[in-house]
Amino acid sequence: MLRELIEERGWLLADGATGTNYFDAGLEAGDAPEFWNIDAPEKVKTLHRGFAEAGADIILTNSFGGNAYRLKLHGAEGRVRELNAEAARVARAVTQEFSRQILVAGSMGPTGELFEPVGTLTHEEGVEAFAEQAEGLKEGGADLLWLETMSAEEEVRAAIEGASRVGLPIVVTMSFDTAGRTMMGVTPQGFGQLAATLDPQPEAIGANCGVGAAELVATVLGISEARPDAIVVAKGNCGIPQFVDGHIHYSGTPELMADYARLARDAGARIIGGCCGTTAEHLSAMRQALESHEPGERPVIQTIIGKLGDVSNLAKGDIVATQGRSIRRRRRSQ
Ligand SMILES: [Zn+2]
Repeated sequence: MLRELIEERGWLLADGATGTNYFDAGLEAGDAPEFWNIDAPEKVKTLHRGFAEAGADIILTNSFGGNAYRLKLHGAEGRVRELNAEAARVARAVTQEFSRQILVAGSMGPTGELFEPVGTLTHEEGVEAFAEQAEGLKEGGADLLWLETMSAEEEVRAAIEGASRVGLPIVVTMSFDTAGRTMMGVTPQGFGQLAATLDPQPEAIGANCGVGAAELVATVLGISEARPDAIVVAKGNCGIPQFVDGHIHYSGTPELMADYARLARDAGARIIGGCCGTTAEHLSAMRQALESHEPGERPVIQTIIGKLGDVSNLAKGDIVATQGRSIRRRRRSQ
């Protein structure tokens, strides 16, 4: 379904932030937003509806922390199935208010545990946790499963195996938040190569969250360079987080996110959305930008920095190396 829609349209718009928008809607730090699927479904629907009205083709369910390990921190490890099924039902109810097709993607974040051999969580325990969450999401009517903010190869492998048990298409994105790498040291190119070895193969791979919009585009360049055949996802934060009056504020304007959307598309992304800080207003600007954009050349680092802000030195080095390779290749092919 995802693949057909992309072939038809060329690109799809995913939604914006969940966590930061819920904080604006009254979620307290330390609360589990997944409880809102039962206790305050109107708040969940309002955010989904805002993104759908702004033009999102894919809505992510309110279930990012809905695995047993994360819910255990709130004494709710026994409610995985219920909270995930309801997350999908609430999102589905909103997408049905619209005449165009909007996909419901079941969001699945990391367990928060370290996998063996660094930590104690076994592969089998991880698989079971992700399978349980996937079952709930499928029961509630999710069209696909969306594994996001991953940082460890071991966790990606367990998540894919668990999610695949329910037979829905799978998207996987990692968060490259540590100088151009994930917290566990995976590079964008490394993720591209790792993804090629996953069984089953995800429908799409990419990057979400991380540092800022500029770094995210740099990351997409690395993934699409390693895997030119893959459908690549860009879901970047709305600028850089800053502390303003004791709150975290994201600096990105709608104009910046419109530039980000165009550059992400040029960098090879075909599913583009926003992560932390991205509101419906930003998403609407991204939709307009993509509608009127003819994809151009892969952006060079100076263009990314000039339009979106600085990127880390490691990411910079990776892009320069990548550009060196493609220049050499072009020379060879002449
Ligand atoms: Zn984020």
